[in-house]
Amino acid sequence: MGLPPRPDPFLPVLAGYEVQRVPAFRATKDYVCPDCGNTIRRGEGHVVAWPEGLVVDRRHWHLHCWRLASNRGYA
Ligand SMILES: [Zn+2]
Repeated sequence: MGLPPRPDPFLPVLAGYEVQRVPAFRATKDYVCPDCGNTIRRGEGHVVAWPEGLVVDRRHWHLHCWRLASNRGYA
């Protein structure tokens, strides 16, 4: 419960998506980044993003891959 997380001004935004930072200490398992296909190692800070209203479709991304998606305008 409580207030929603404060918006992170350093997190790249992408229209139609919500994104949150996953700090290293909360990265407790490996994920596969949907953009580059490489592993995000346990203990590596990254981001989790999902289409607005579709949190079940959330994916874990490398921060730099998410930034690339933000720059090109689609995930
Ligand atoms: Zn990646």
